Amino acid sequence: MAQLSDRMRELVQPHLRSLEPYDPNFTPTRVNLSANENTYGVLPAVRAAMDEALAATPTNRYPDPMSNDLRDALAAWHGVARENVIVGNGGDELLYNLVLAFGGPGRTLVNVPPCFSEYAFFAGLAQTRVVDVWRDPGTLLPDADALVAAAREASLVVLTSPNNPTGDVVPAELVRRVCEACPGLVLVDEAYGEFAEAGTSAEPLLAEHDNLLVLHTLSKAFALAGARCGYVIAAPDVIDALAAVRQIYSVNVLTQAAALVAVECRGEFSPVVDQIRSERTRLFEALARIEGVRVWPSEGNFVLVRVPAASRVRERLRDEYSILVRDFSYAPGLAGCLRITVGTPEENGAVIDALAALVADELSADEGAAHD
Ligand code: PMP
Repeated sequence: MAQLSDRMRELVQPHLRSLEPYDPNFTPTRVNLSANENTYGVLPAVRAAMDEALAATPTNRYPDPMSNDLRDALAAWHGVARENVIVGNGGDELLYNLVLAFGGPGRTLVNVPPCFSEYAFFAGLAQTRVVDVWRDPGTLLPDADALVAAAREASLVVLTSPNNPTGDVVPAELVRRVCEACPGLVLVDEAYGEFAEAGTSAEPLLAEHDNLLVLHTLSKAFALAGARCGYVIAAPDVIDALAAVRQIYSVNVLTQAAALVAVECRGEFSPVVDQIRSERTRLFEALARIEGVRVWPSEGNFVLVRVPAASRVRERLRDEYSILVRDFSYAPGLAGCLRITVGTPEENGAVIDALAALVADELSADEGAAHD
């Protein structure tokens, strides 16, 4: 990954000197299971309705800044008022706006790594101190008491449920304890919430805790990663503060139109989500049977595995099988780990077979080396 040039390091704000431009490491492959997208795509009937809505959308006028039609549809779906909802250019924009509004010098964001790296990245951009409450190195589950203790000193706490990349959901009781302890705001990132067991969302707690925010995205279950649309549900004054810092036209007219159709047709996505959940079980069980592989249970549309020689296995998957998965083996707490998105039955079959062959190969190479 490229670093900033010496000239740029002189010119950028001092706290940004060590920044490296983001490289998602995308290589065109036959099977891409690297970014937790919905690899089934939008169903043809829904896509046709979207195309019709897009065709009827003029692009010469600026968008409605607050996406009010979409906001109303989201509010009706979640049983809240328009004032409780804000829409963003992907969940990412809302996470950035969160630290812009509520972080900054002298403020602290608590997160629970290994987790989505953008929280710490955005916090750094906004000069917010990050406090890490590390997960158990074996189970990869949070330390509830340490988290509650850290929350007492935090301006912001970010919990992820299901967590990317470990796959676990945060129990409602822990969210409640964190909301009670934290003098600031608590965001529960439910980007993968639709794939989790019903009844695990933190949303029912919104009624009791006005410092709770719940983040959702249309990028995953609703197959709109390319359109960039996420939303937050929270108390009206929290939404107003997020609205105050946002770029006014960040959600373009085409995205608003496509997202509205997705929300109106949300029931159509249920069979696909159900299939991804059952494929997740199949993938988990097949990977768990491969000697030398550890796999963690997941409530998201991905599974985390630990394999021998992970970086080489990931490269060989790409170069010999044209299958792309995400390498986390360099990340603290995730030595030897790869994250595999749950895809279609064919895609999952391909990655299971390829991994079984590569891991067996690595293990026998290891044994050979031991005998040398
Ligand atoms: N939260 C988590 C945990 C994620 O993994 C992602 C995307 N990978 C996002 C939020 C942001 O998604 P988007 O910007 O596509 O809405």
